[in-house]
Amino acid sequence: MGEFHIKRIVLPSGKTVEIVYYQTTGADPVISDVHEIETGAELHVRQIELCSKCGGDRVHPTDWNEVEELRWQLALRCPDCEWRHVETYDAAEVERYDDVLNDATDRLIEELDRVTRENMSDAIDRFRSALENDGIMPFDF
Ligand SMILES: [Zn+2]
Repeated sequence: MGEFHIKRIVLPSGKTVEIVYYQTTGADPVISDVHEIETGAELHVRQIELCSKCGGDRVHPTDWNEVEELRWQLALRCPDCEWRHVETYDAAEVERYDDVLNDATDRLIEELDRVTRENMSDAIDRFRSALENDGIMPFDF
């Protein structure tokens, strides 16, 4: 005669799953069900980049300190409306926010590369056109 057991596991993503398995005496357990549990507040991850005053999504940190283990206090600023705020966030929230900030940084660098190439291309075109029209002579150097 066996019996049902329930085991709760917290996944790295922060989700909690409940595994229901059936174990007969001396035999390997047979998993009969796995389902995700709504853990309410535990799963609530705030989107720190959203401004609570103007709704913009470009809120950035001006300062951060680890106030206790896995809890961070962030000083925030919205560049669109100058809203400022200081609050303490969980590790999951800060990790997610860090990803958002890194993605935004990547997009900025790509844009900077694009603009730099565009400007260089303009400068090369002007230089070529000046050379072709004898606008630049050896004594210019
Ligand atoms: Zn704002």
